[in-house]
Amino acid sequence: MMNDSHIFHRTAGVVPPRASHGEGVWITATDGRRYLDACGGAAVSCLGHGDPAVVRALSDQAAQLAYAHTSFFTTEAAEDLANLLVRNAPEGLGRVYFLCDGSEAIETAIKMAHQYHRETGGAARRHVIARQQSYHGNTLGALSAGGNAWRRTTYDGLLLPATSHIAPCWAYRHQTPGESDSDYAARAAGSLETEILRLGPENVSCFIAETVVGATLGCVPPSPGYFRQIRDICDRYGVLLILDEVMCGMGRTGTLHACEQEGISPDILVVAKGLGAGYVPLGAVICSDRIHDAFVDGSGSFTHGHTFVGHPVACAAALAVQREIASRDLLNNVRLRGAELHGALGARLAVHPHVGDIRGRGLFLALEFVADRQDKTPFAPERHVHRALRDAAFRKGLLIYAMAGTIDGRRGDHILLAPPYTVTTQEVQQVADRLADAVTEVFATP
Ligand code: PMP
Repeated sequence: MMNDSHIFHRTAGVVPPRASHGEGVWITATDGRRYLDACGGAAVSCLGHGDPAVVRALSDQAAQLAYAHTSFFTTEAAEDLANLLVRNAPEGLGRVYFLCDGSEAIETAIKMAHQYHRETGGAARRHVIARQQSYHGNTLGALSAGGNAWRRTTYDGLLLPATSHIAPCWAYRHQTPGESDSDYAARAAGSLETEILRLGPENVSCFIAETVVGATLGCVPPSPGYFRQIRDICDRYGVLLILDEVMCGMGRTGTLHACEQEGISPDILVVAKGLGAGYVPLGAVICSDRIHDAFVDGSGSFTHGHTFVGHPVACAAALAVQREIASRDLLNNVRLRGAELHGALGARLAVHPHVGDIRGRGLFLALEFVADRQDKTPFAPERHVHRALRDAAFRKGLLIYAMAGTIDGRRGDHILLAPPYTVTTQEVQQVADRLADAVTEVFATP
């Protein structure tokens, strides 16, 4: 069927097929083809498609009250969701600010950190430190924090000047032969201290990092102890720690928040994607009581705001999503099926000459593809290996999230798997089988 709507598609001339309906881990297109959604779109659809409890909550709230501006009202849906998030949050986090998506939430977190310092006598603290090869969103502040060179280039001259980037914690590529995990973690964390001292601690507002790096590196977990040292360094210099769990949070790695596995609490935790599971666009900034109290004791208001903050329908849907995840113990399924998927990928692809690394946590897994396993050389960018894999998988009815990550100045190829938490053992095997077929097909031609 010809599809020639007036949509401004991202890639000129590429019009994707039209999706019609979804059920569980499956999406059906209008031409009748079914796709196993092994990446939840962009690690979004964590509850699968068509969950009746969420649909009911959405429609009930829309019928009761679709919208009320926060300058006049709060709503039960927003209050209940905030209370639930705080009950389950890492220690010390006590207040929630709702936004529409991850980028807005990151913008808000950066601005919240900035105003916090102004409220507490640190007006010079404007500098944001983030990491190379990271992604924090596409609005200008979030893009400035992101360290993905390719995404930034088009907007040269438009990004926030007071940002800088240290190396990520990436054992596969940066840990040197013979270096222990703990020595590497200390070295990677130490680069934050070096950067703070270079800038002058009195000028630094915050450090922002993805707890498990998603799109740009492909599911890279931190080395053990890295984030505990980062926490100490931030505390030593009065720098706020913002953890971006937009992609890796809300259960994706097997615990509600990825930072639980690191044994630390950030000052600000940012979540989105899985919060509304794709039923609604929703993000949240969960901040410490200390930050909130500084606003209360200081100017009394956060100089910020968006029209759709705390949208009742979005909050009601997200509340239903989170209740479903808890009542069906789906995080246990994330851990069990995640281990199965990791094992199934390893069994089929671990010795493949072009699979450099299989990594991740829970149902947040990635494969990095290399021209040479021995020296980890990436493929030439013009081969577009990630795109070829995505297209081959798509033809086989499998949705995977394929990215051209940046590897220390060169482009690399990885694919990311993030199926719904409801995925079954049988579906896990189908994901691994279809992916292995796609990999075989792509590399059959040299
Ligand atoms: N942070 C991270 C870690 C992300 O993966 C993303 C989205 N891929 C964002 C922020 C931005 O979120 P959104 O696309 O919802 O604006």
